[in-house]
Amino acid sequence: MTERLVGAAKREEDELERTLRPQLLADFTGQARARENLAVFIEAARKRGEALDHVLFAGPPGLGKTTLAQIVARELGVNFRSTSGPVISKAGDLAALLTNLEPRDVLFIDEIHRLSPAVEEILYPAMEDFQLDLIIGEGPGARSVRIELAPFTLVGATTRTGLLTTPLRDRFGIPVRLNFYEIDELESIVRRGASVLDISMTADGAHEIARRARGTPRVAGRLLRRVRDFAAVEGVTSIDAKAADRALQRLEVDELGLDALDHRYLRCIAVSFSGGPVGVETIAASLSEPRDAIEEIIEPYLIQQGLVNRTPRGRVLTAAAFAHIGLSVPSVSPAGQPGLFGAEGEGEA
Ligand code: ADP
Repeated sequence: MTERLVGAAKREEDELERTLRPQLLADFTGQARARENLAVFIEAARKRGEALDHVLFAGPPGLGKTTLAQIVARELGVNFRSTSGPVISKAGDLAALLTNLEPRDVLFIDEIHRLSPAVEEILYPAMEDFQLDLIIGEGPGARSVRIELAPFTLVGATTRTGLLTTPLRDRFGIPVRLNFYEIDELESIVRRGASVLDISMTADGAHEIARRARGTPRVAGRLLRRVRDFAAVEGVTSIDAKAADRALQRLEVDELGLDALDHRYLRCIAVSFSGGPVGVETIAASLSEPRDAIEEIIEPYLIQQGLVNRTPRGRVLTAAAFAHIGLSVPSVSPAGQPGLFGAEGEGEA
């Protein structure tokens, strides 16, 4: 997929982000309910001296799933081991990870919806009974061995809960849904980032970056660093709203945080498909972008902003989206489809 400044997916330069990562639950801004509940469960597990129940973090990229997983381990005072679904190709890879865990350790599996079915099968008894059932050898000589594991906590992260199999989803005792952040929460994340990176910034400068960060801390951090670059070159000593706005305009991030790719997406539906409904496959083909990227990265924020609706017959732009890209709403939808607003109601199927 095209490189995007406002893309929430991880990139290499984001290594710098590590310095911005909050280390403790108390430093973690936003997601109040998730944080409060986690604090209770962690405290209870610690008091009992038991492994915390398995935790599943679900939500769009860049909202803090990895950060929270690390915080959970730190707050529990245990080791943090990390891997990701696509990396574990064989049952043996997972077995090696699991047998190396010490009691109460946290094993973090990012993109857990992308585990292969064979690996997932191994995970079920491991999660439920802390046992590993392995088949050693092949053919008639094959035998099965059972290995006892230390009680551990599996922390899974997924951008797509819908792709998780039911048996896997059911084995997480603590499912946590992360939502896009409010602007004031992002503002305090930007302010904290500015102080960590030693950037001088006014309150309205932080606000300007926050409201254009797509509700996503990772994007906020990235915009902050780019704005800093522009400010340094312009010789601005303290970044205010004007300086931030100038930089963000040059970076083609609009006042809602939408970039060129978001605009292509919206224009595609508006112009080529008269506002929809149009299927995601068709949009993916028109934009030459993978369907996954459209569903996981572009759409969640546009939907949250009320610019797009997902209906059973496809994507439909809202009047707000037409207004945002400066086009007027077509009066009649194509092929006698119910109009733009008809598709938003409940009887849309
Ligand atoms: P995910 O795993 O959901 O893709 P990460 O946990 O990697 O997201 O978070 C991305 C970056 O955003 C982190 O490096 C961190 O600096 C920042 N971040 C995420 N959540 C918060 C938060 N609540 N407060 C401050 N920074 C955050």
